[in-house]
Amino acid sequence: MQNGLRKASCQLTTMLTIDGSYHEGGGQILRTALTLSVATRTPFRIEKIRAGRKRPGLLRQHLTAVLAAARISNAEVRGAEINSTELTFSPQDVVPGDYRFSIGTAGSTMLVLQTVLPVLMIGTAPSTLTLEGGTHNPAAPPYDYVERVYLPLVNRMGARVRSELISAGFFPAGGGVVKICIEPPGKLQALDLRQRGEIVRRSARGLVSNLPESIAERELTVVAKKLGWERCNLVAQSVASHGPGNILFLEVESEQLTEIFTGFGERNVRAEAVAERAIDEAKRYLAGEVAVGEHLADQLLLPLALMKGGVFSTLPLSPHSLTNIDTISKFLAVKIQVGEDGNRGCTVEVGG
Ligand code: ATP
Repeated sequence: MQNGLRKASCQLTTMLTIDGSYHEGGGQILRTALTLSVATRTPFRIEKIRAGRKRPGLLRQHLTAVLAAARISNAEVRGAEINSTELTFSPQDVVPGDYRFSIGTAGSTMLVLQTVLPVLMIGTAPSTLTLEGGTHNPAAPPYDYVERVYLPLVNRMGARVRSELISAGFFPAGGGVVKICIEPPGKLQALDLRQRGEIVRRSARGLVSNLPESIAERELTVVAKKLGWERCNLVAQSVASHGPGNILFLEVESEQLTEIFTGFGERNVRAEAVAERAIDEAKRYLAGEVAVGEHLADQLLLPLALMKGGVFSTLPLSPHSLTNIDTISKFLAVKIQVGEDGNRGCTVEVGG
């Protein structure tokens, strides 16, 4: 661990208690607590897991994240069962290695990845991860987002992580496989994303699986009309997978980073409406003139806190980001400052 120095060595034996109903009361508090517990070797107990959700307690994705965090740290765990609303987790040292984690449903492999990766990527030996389950899920980072947005930034901070999509798994059929190779990090450096710089490319990709490509074409027609992006940068693509799936990616490549905004196709939702959702999110980002979008903000906090810190401009913070800031402050002494930035959003500084 580099920047986020463990609060005090007495935490090795003191069990933290986390309220899982805090803020939006979703799975994020649990996953962040697992990562930080393993990173700092601090045991914790979490109560009221996902109390804010329609089906509270551990679902397959959350349970797999618990079991994955336990595997890489030989943790002693109590309450790791489907629907469990309480859990006790006591980790030991992290063991880099070759791991396979299978969710067993279409639950998001990317959320399981983001639970264990921040720890393994600052380890002293290489690791590989094979993750099986959903790779393109609503309300989670899709594989392409992790590959093109999240990993380039953690690698810029010093990590050495490569990813490969072996097969796509759309919610609800799942069955996707992703491979991750992690080398010990190079020299860690602070991340500076105060500015996004000039936009160098705007592109869109409509992806379908076991559905007509015309769905993607209709989405791209809305993108051309509402955003005015050049037709040659709008692509429809068919991929193989176990079930039906549709996703629209809007990609904004700037000098400092790439951001992606996503619309997920759903049964009984018109392709045009799917496109509108992604377009609204992209428009908010473009109008805000910030570097980091809403989702990336909450996902960057952990790597920043565990590595060399940094600073980024972003839109007003989501409940996920506020949850992460609060959970980080329970495990680490790292300072996180949020400065309001007029109508634009805010600047978040981690460590330093
Ligand atoms: P629940 O809240 O039901 O427990 P969960 O555990 O699946 O659900 P959340 O706690 O909602 O998930 O966390 C979702 C994570 O996925 C957050 O980090 C969020 O930023 C990210 N995310 C959601 N949608 C997108 C998207 N379109 N692109 C990138 N990241 C996303």
